[in-house]
Amino acid sequence: MAFLNEPTISSSGIVRPTYAEIDRARLTANYYAIQQHVTPAKVLAILKANAYGHGLVEVAQHMERLGVPYLGVAVLEEGILLRESGITTPILVLGGILGNQIPLFLQHDLTLTASSIEKLQQIDAAAAQMGVQARVHLKIDTGMERIGVHYYNAEGLLETAVHATHCHIEGIYSHFANSDAANLSYSHLQLQRFNQVLSFYEKRGFAPPPLRHMANSGGILQLPESHFDMVRAGILLYGVYPSDEVQRTVVVQPALSWKSQVVYFKVIQPGHPVSYGSTWQSDHMVRAVTVPVGYGDGYFRSMSGRAEVIIRGKRYPVVGRICMDQVVVNIEWDSAYNGDAVILIGEAENGTSITCEDLADWAGTIPYEILTNINTRISRVYVN
Ligand SMILES: *Cc1c(COP(=O)(O)O)cnc(C)c1O
Repeated sequence: MAFLNEPTISSSGIVRPTYAEIDRARLTANYYAIQQHVTPAKVLAILKANAYGHGLVEVAQHMERLGVPYLGVAVLEEGILLRESGITTPILVLGGILGNQIPLFLQHDLTLTASSIEKLQQIDAAAAQMGVQARVHLKIDTGMERIGVHYYNAEGLLETAVHATHCHIEGIYSHFANSDAANLSYSHLQLQRFNQVLSFYEKRGFAPPPLRHMANSGGILQLPESHFDMVRAGILLYGVYPSDEVQRTVVVQPALSWKSQVVYFKVIQPGHPVSYGSTWQSDHMVRAVTVPVGYGDGYFRSMSGRAEVIIRGKRYPVVGRICMDQVVVNIEWDSAYNGDAVILIGEAENGTSITCEDLADWAGTIPYEILTNINTRISRVYVN
């Protein structure tokens, strides 16, 4: 356990005891578990939002070493950063695009999402002008109402795509709104709509694009009929289930732990309130420690009065309001010393654990938001 007590040095050279630890071996195991479950479909690894807080470039490099066939990001800038970091695996940018961004996509060999006839025509024209073939996936809206051509209007886009000479139409995809729910009736309706759109190719005697894809983590777990040629694995790759109600048909383990250290120890007298707003006080003398993490790191203030941390294998409550950079933990009459390891998310040697689902419950949000809000002030340390 020596690593727990080692302060980490961030890129700026500043020693900060609070850091996120990413276990690469768990990412590997999660990837293989998903791949095995969906085979012969391929797995596209979703790396948006700093790889769900796990570190965009480092996770991409790890995925590339594993031979992951496709990567996915939300926005152009994420894709460019990966290319500038030497990533050569195909990268699909999932978000909507603006016409003036298209040349940058093409320069960096990023796969575009075409979500309307007009966008596809803009892509084709830009590719023709630059003398290249654009790699394109068509986006069909089957019930998310976010981006994509509506399933009931999709034929025009598919027809245009057949004649877009400077586009390699490599994929066609849609996205589930509720695939992590216990009730899958809306997902089945979306799937039926997507299949209806795909029947265009058979009707017209054209080969469909080689990568038909629809499943996010919920679809991977609960809707085998949605795996098609490829699945888009997001939160499941990081070892977290997309909801409480989802069927856990693939076993994964969390890759991220969030750790800190005790930086201050004191005794608090009864009737002496703790932190801003004086919202908490004890009616008896307690020992307390201060831990250098706060809402300025993504440790949400809304968890005040609910959050717990692990010190020496035992869970203790965070008391008083969570500050920007510090929290106070009530250890009653137990002992703790400066430098002791504090687990914010993760598992102690004795098996006591706190999950990002716990933090999500305390904050009134979902695990996705917890992970993607652990911000850049927290250095990422990679193990295994
Ligand atoms: C974020 C995203 C995913 C991954 O979702 P998870 O629930 O994290 O698996 C898949 N597809 C699209 C289009 C997305 O935006």
